[in-house]
Amino acid sequence: TGVITLPPFRGPGSTADGHRVVLSANVGAPREIARAVERGAEGVGLFRTEFCFLDRADEPSVAEQVAAYREVFAAFPDQRVIVRTLDAGSDKPLPFFTPIHEPNPVLGLRGVRTAIRDPLVLERQLRAIAEAAAAERADVAVMAPMIATLAETREFAARAREAGIRSVGVMLETPAAALTAIELCGAVDFLSVGTNDLSQYTMAADRMSAALAPLADPWQPALLRMIRIVGEAAEATGTPMGLCGEAAADPDFAAVLVGLGATSLSMVARAIPTVGARLAGVTLTQCRDAAAASCAAPDPLAARAAARAALG
Ligand code: PEP
Ligand code: MG
Repeated sequence: TGVITLPPFRGPGSTADGHRVVLSANVGAPREIARAVERGAEGVGLFRTEFCFLDRADEPSVAEQVAAYREVFAAFPDQRVIVRTLDAGSDKPLPFFTPIHEPNPVLGLRGVRTAIRDPLVLERQLRAIAEAAAAERADVAVMAPMIATLAETREFAARAREAGIRSVGVMLETPAAALTAIELCGAVDFLSVGTNDLSQYTMAADRMSAALAPLADPWQPALLRMIRIVGEAAEATGTPMGLCGEAAADPDFAAVLVGLGATSLSMVARAIPTVGARLAGVTLTQCRDAAAASCAAPDPLAARAAARAALG
C-alpha cells in the first residue's frame, strides 16, 4: 500500500573503517519502546521521563515512577538506557511544578532549574530510577536537562551519585554549557548534546515557530561550531560525547557529528536504519573532513553541500 518498510538495523553502528558509533533511540511514551527494539536500537540515548508526569495534576509517587521506568529498562536488558530527569517548563509545562505566570517561559524556570528549586522532586525521581535499575539489573545512566553552569552540574551529579547512580551526565543545550564544556567534563561521566534546544538558544529562535525554521536549521554554521567546541572539550578530557537532538536523524548530519567527535547518536527509532547505513558507507576521515568543511561554510545550504561533497 505504498508503505516503505526499512529492514531492521543490523548493528552495531560503525563507520566503514570500523570506528564504533552507538546508535540508540529517543523514547518518550511507553508505546515507543517496541518500535525502538524493532528498529535495532542499541539502547536508549534519551528517555524523556516527562511522559509519566505530563497529564498529572500532582507528582507521581515513587512506586508509580518505578513501575514506569521498569517497563523501559526491561525492554533493553543488555543495553544502556540514559534517563533524562524531569524536563519541566517552557514547551513542557507541568501543572504541579511549573510557574504559570512567567513572562518568558523559554528563558524561565525549566529543566534542571526546577530540580534545584525543588530538590525533593529530583531526589524522589533519582530514587525511583535507582530502584527500577536495581530491580531490572539494567545498565542505567542519568542526565540533567538545561544545564547552564558548573555549579548546577556539580549539584546534580552529587545528588545522582548519592542516590546510587553510577553513570551521570549532563545535556549540552545552552551556549553557556557549550562554552564551559571543558569544566563540565570534569564533573560528569558523559555529555549529551541536545540540538533542539542548543539551536534555539544559539540562534535566539523559538523552536516552536514555523516562521523561524530557516534559523533553526541544524546546518547553521553557528550551531555546528558550537557543537565543535563541545567535541573538542570532550576529546581533550576523554569524556564520551553523545547527541540526542532531532538532527541526528539526518544521515549526512549524523556523519558530520561523528566527525565532530560524537561516539553515540540517539534519534527517533525510525531513522536508525538509514543513519546506520550512511555511517557504514563512510570513513572516519571522511566524517572529519565533512565536519571541518561544514563548520567553515558561510550558511546552511553551503554547509550541507560541503558535507555531501566530503562524504561522497
Ligand atoms: C533537545 O533539546 O535537543 C532535546 C533532545 O531535548 P528536548 O527535545 O526534549 O528538549
Ligand atoms: Mg531540550
